[in-house]
Amino acid sequence: MRKEYDFVIIGSGFGGSVSALRLIEKGYSVLLIEKGDWKRPEDFPKTNWNLKKWLWFPPLGFKGIFKLTFLRHLSVISGVGVGGGSLVYANTLPVPKDEFFNSGSWKGILNWEKELTPFYKTAKYMLGVSKNPELFDGDNYLNKLSTLIGKESDFAPTDVAVYFGDSDKDTKDPFFNGEGPDRKGCDYCGRCMTGCPNNAKNTLDKNYLYLAQKKGLEILANNYVTDVKPIDNNRYSVVYRKTGKYFSKQRIVTTKGIIFSGGVLGTVPLLLKLKKSSLPNLSDMVGKDVRSNNEALIFVTTPDKSIDMSKGVAIGSILHSGKNSHMEPVRYGSGSGAWRVGTLPMVSEPKLGKRLFKLILSLVKSPIKWLKVLTVRNFAKQTIVLLYMQNLEGKLSMKKGHIVPKTSIQQGEAPSAFLPEAHDLANKYAKLVGGKPMTFVLETLAGTPSTAHILGGAVIGADKKSGVIDKNHKVFGYDNMYICDGSAISANPGVNPALTITAMSERAISKIQSKKIV
Ligand SMILES: Cc1cc2nc3c(=O)[nH]c(=O)nc-3n(C[C@H](O)[C@H](O)[C@H](O)COP(=O)(O)OP(=O)(O)OC[C@H]3O[C@@H](n4cnc5c(N)ncnc54)[C@H](O)[C@@H]3O)c2cc1C
Ligand code: SF4
Repeated sequence: MRKEYDFVIIGSGFGGSVSALRLIEKGYSVLLIEKGDWKRPEDFPKTNWNLKKWLWFPPLGFKGIFKLTFLRHLSVISGVGVGGGSLVYANTLPVPKDEFFNSGSWKGILNWEKELTPFYKTAKYMLGVSKNPELFDGDNYLNKLSTLIGKESDFAPTDVAVYFGDSDKDTKDPFFNGEGPDRKGCDYCGRCMTGCPNNAKNTLDKNYLYLAQKKGLEILANNYVTDVKPIDNNRYSVVYRKTGKYFSKQRIVTTKGIIFSGGVLGTVPLLLKLKKSSLPNLSDMVGKDVRSNNEALIFVTTPDKSIDMSKGVAIGSILHSGKNSHMEPVRYGSGSGAWRVGTLPMVSEPKLGKRLFKLILSLVKSPIKWLKVLTVRNFAKQTIVLLYMQNLEGKLSMKKGHIVPKTSIQQGEAPSAFLPEAHDLANKYAKLVGGKPMTFVLETLAGTPSTAHILGGAVIGADKKSGVIDKNHKVFGYDNMYICDGSAISANPGVNPALTITAMSERAISKIQSKKIV
């Protein structure tokens, strides 16, 4: 390692990986520090019952890729490792509707749709997006649901970041004229969210990071950044420690530029801490405008053994159920049934007392059906997770907390676990497959909704009063400091956000000048 770099990047998810490749291409020396591990296809668990390999919880020695964070208003799932959320995500990459580009704190600063169009194109090329070529049971029933509600033309296969070539043998890099790694085609095993064992999923270590490393990027995995301090002449010292060791030695590297890319749950808590210590000039907007897609995650389990929900890519289709809403069927690979211990029957009732009464009533009303549903042998094979998203506004604010950030409602309604359209569609889907809908225990008992799409907290604004970063992602109050990740998303996209994070990061780094050779 060098003692000083032109840029240090914190976190290797979508924003961090884009930044790494584009800065290296501009001639800069770049170090990327990532909290999680490197993973090879053989390192992923066969099923999510192997908690040690699936979950991220270093205090217990769990060094997997899937992290759960319980906030007061939301339970958040996210990814950890070299490649960030791409290791665990469901590969689905839609472009948001117009409203996203014309709302939120970035509204009116630029014509965002026009600005970002070329960068969406680049992002799709780099992530290897193609149309999912095969639909399976989970998708076919969503298609039936679309007909039932009179929206058959609003059902479509998804755009996914997966290689659909020959699944039996290695193929020379099919994406980057032979510059990328060898690949294998998808065999539709449904294991994308526990880690692709087949080298078919286009995770960031197979595109952006792979190409950047070839050009000189240095990656320091298994280390996390705890401090960023300004020193003389626009340089910073970056303090980091070994992951999973309480008393590991602090190490320091200096840099002229810094990119925060730790994802919302990495970047925002770090900025909240640094605003009170090393970076007091950060905007008061740090931690504000945090949002999700106002999602619902509803498990539908059927005892009908002729149905196999586990076959296919993790998300193979989408139903645009309303002007502001979408539904996608999400699957786990056969055998990955760990969620069965974390779910309870879905109850559509915001008031706790009534909800518990309705929960018992639902079990008592059809005990045989529930018994069959709750005792299915292969939970993943018999279960689809319906992901419902909408782009209606509602914002949270985050403050520094002891273990996780404290949340409060900033504007609009609190995120709700009881979305009438989502519950209605889930009930209809359950009827079609002869099953029952269930939600996470915390949704049914505490009414706390869950999200895979936490966004915002370091948003774009016209000035320091309305945002943490400017239109080119430069941090107000500090030089050569940028934020490129989900925390820069400045409105609710209403759909899965990774493509947008990639496109926005592409645009942000394109605005940084190439290194001057002196
Ligand atoms: C199960 C699941 C399925 C999903 N499916 C989809 C989907 O189909 N489509 C879609 O668009 N989105 C999906 N998402 C969401 C998507 O994964 C995230 O929106 C995306 O990964 C966020 O990108 P990011 O650049 O903000 O950072 P992330 O991808 O979250 O990466 C941040 C990285 O920074 C590291 N880090 C954090 N803090 C530090 C620190 N202090 N020091 C060093 N490293 C640090 C983290 O370990 C992590 O690896 C899914 C998410 C989950 C959990
Ligand atoms: S379905 Fe299986 S082979 Fe295909 S991308 Fe997902 S995990 Fe990989």
